[in-house]
Amino acid sequence: MYYPFSWLKNLLRICGFYVIVILVGLYFDALAVAIAFGSTWLLGFYSWHMYRFNRWVWHSKKMTPPKATGFWEHVYEGVYYIQRRNRRKRKELTRMVKRFREGSEALPDATVVVDSNACIVWCNRLARIELGLRWPQDSGRRVDNLIRHPKFIEYFHSGKYDYPVEVPSPSNVQKIFEYRIMPYGEKHLLLIARDVTRLTQLEQMRKDFVANVSHELRTPLTVLNGYLEMLPSTENVPPAFMKKAFNEMRSQSERMQNLVEELLVLSRIEASSERVFEKSVNVPQMLAAIQVEANTLNKDKNHQIIFDIDTSLRVYGIETELRSAFSNLIFNAINYTPAPGIIHVTWNKQNEQAHFSVKDNGEGIPEKHLNRLTERFYRVDKARSRKTGGSGLGLSIVKHVLTHHNSKLDIISEMGVGSEFSFSFSSELSVQSSATGALEKQL
Ligand code: ADP
Repeated sequence: MYYPFSWLKNLLRICGFYVIVILVGLYFDALAVAIAFGSTWLLGFYSWHMYRFNRWVWHSKKMTPPKATGFWEHVYEGVYYIQRRNRRKRKELTRMVKRFREGSEALPDATVVVDSNACIVWCNRLARIELGLRWPQDSGRRVDNLIRHPKFIEYFHSGKYDYPVEVPSPSNVQKIFEYRIMPYGEKHLLLIARDVTRLTQLEQMRKDFVANVSHELRTPLTVLNGYLEMLPSTENVPPAFMKKAFNEMRSQSERMQNLVEELLVLSRIEASSERVFEKSVNVPQMLAAIQVEANTLNKDKNHQIIFDIDTSLRVYGIETELRSAFSNLIFNAINYTPAPGIIHVTWNKQNEQAHFSVKDNGEGIPEKHLNRLTERFYRVDKARSRKTGGSGLGLSIVKHVLTHHNSKLDIISEMGVGSEFSFSFSSELSVQSSATGALEKQL
């Protein structure tokens, strides 16, 4: 609020004061003394107010000014008014900065503001977590001293920020960050780091996948082509050679067909939007059908296969997918267990969950392979796996099916003892029909 101040009124007040001083001086016949006395009083009065003013402005914690009248009241009110206006502006500014910071904290990326000397002005919480920056300790420190990867330093100093650069995180090398720099304002830089680990992994997986598929299909094709090229040019082909050629061509084309079919199954499962809750699957019946196929596969090896099945236990799910998962595990056990082995197939309820397991007494799998078995085309022993007609996609299909059904594959294996592949379906997916009973059949 503005208080109007009248200089005339103030002048009149001073004049009035001196008139009184002069009258008093004349009355006592000591005009000079009275004027000197009056001037000293006036000087003291002004000095006293200046002292109060100084104390209020510099030392007092109170916002409200001391009581005064006239000229000094006007001065106090003026300063008080300016103080309040500044305070209001400061509050507005603080609110704005707070809003900006809250907005930046909500960003899904690590954000760092860097000044013209490459020093950190500000960074958000994600930058502290992901890039390992400390706040406020790192405020004012050079960003290229803190993120020291040569690729980042080269990008930072290049001044060319049209494209982002991918660099491992300074706090965790497993993570890959995409750094993007945007110049703004007075030579300030906005550094944004986005976690692209998953994208990079997916891209790598895609590359590996294409390379693997090409590689896997090339071998059968080369064999087939080799024989086909030789056939027309070879007259009087010996029957033994023809027999060998046809057998080899048949087995390679079968392998290729299996591979293509499994690839199709895999891509169908990946793209599937079918909901697992809609239909219940008669797993005991499905296992009975798989058992017949297993018998055929087991003809040569003659393993002892024990099916221990709870015939009343069904699950909600997608029948074709589950069939793939169950049969893959059972057929693997038959294929990879040296004859004559013992294979236990169990389907029962454990802790309210539907549990499936295939246990064999084969050679076992070295521990270092266990984590990678479900990767596409991953095989412990490539040569042996090819002989069994394996594509390296079986366990990958199992993994995808189980993920689709909110479950996961557990693998336990001990060298020289055997392996167990198992999984469980949550109680939500399990259906126990009223007819109970267990079917135990020994082959
Ligand atoms: P494949 O189609 O080659 O059988 P999978 O993905 O089904 O591929 O299996 C991957 C690898 O896991 C196999 O090559 C094999 O070495 C190993 N494996 C799978 N099941 C068993 C098992 N029951 N016993 C020993 N090794 C197994």
